[in-house]
Amino acid sequence: MIYVIGIGPGGIKYFTAEAVEAIHDCEFIAGYEKYIKLVQKYFPDKKFMSYSMRQELERCKDVLNIALDQKINIGLISGGDPDIYGMASPILELAKNFKELEIKIIPGLTAANTAAAILGAPLSNDFAVISLSDLLTSWDVIEKRIKAACEGDFVICFYNPGSNTRRENFKRACEIMLIHKNKNTPAGIVKNISREGQEFKITTLDEIKNYEPKMNETIIIGNSFSYIHDDKFITPRGYKI
Ligand code: SAH
Repeated sequence: MIYVIGIGPGGIKYFTAEAVEAIHDCEFIAGYEKYIKLVQKYFPDKKFMSYSMRQELERCKDVLNIALDQKINIGLISGGDPDIYGMASPILELAKNFKELEIKIIPGLTAANTAAAILGAPLSNDFAVISLSDLLTSWDVIEKRIKAACEGDFVICFYNPGSNTRRENFKRACEIMLIHKNKNTPAGIVKNISREGQEFKITTLDEIKNYEPKMNETIIIGNSFSYIHDDKFITPRGYKI
């Protein structure tokens, strides 16, 4: 059995009981070195295999080969939820021709809902999640999605809002949003969720446009009904209160 295990955005805090059980059921756990470091200390009896960033397909292939050759239970950990820009789809795609393999996806809390809880209630109506990384999706498509989400008055949650090599994307996203959304629309930034250095800030779309986000940040921009009250970012569900 291969378990693809969502570990939540940080350490053990946001682990589900099912994720803990799956790890106990594995002989080996493979994953990105940063995530291995976050969980290893909680499972001292397990064997871990660390990989550096950008080795996603290599990780999946190794896990598939070990499961096929050794017929043991092996886990592949994925930050947050494995289905949301995580390891679930690459491993299922690579495993298409190995019908004998059983693969179980264990969900995890994703950056969006953990960031939302820190900010208040920003995602309480329809929302769109958009990654600003143009490594695997072209920038044209990303722009089209931002525009469409604005036209639908969705709350927008941005993943991969910036990195050292990707400074312009968030700025451009703000320019597009400012065409469609009011400049006073609430905006929330959450850094290092459930990790050392967790921080958040609630501000407005107009103020955030010059901000240079880093990789470990999730940014939420409200819809036309969202507001800020006492340091809480609230998107109403629509009840008359
Ligand atoms: N599968 C992950 C997302 C991977 S994409 C999940 O479900 O959460 C990576 C992006 O997720 C980061 O660039 C950031 O936008 C967000 N993210 C992941 N962990 C985070 C954390 N601890 N704090 C803030 N944002 C985080």
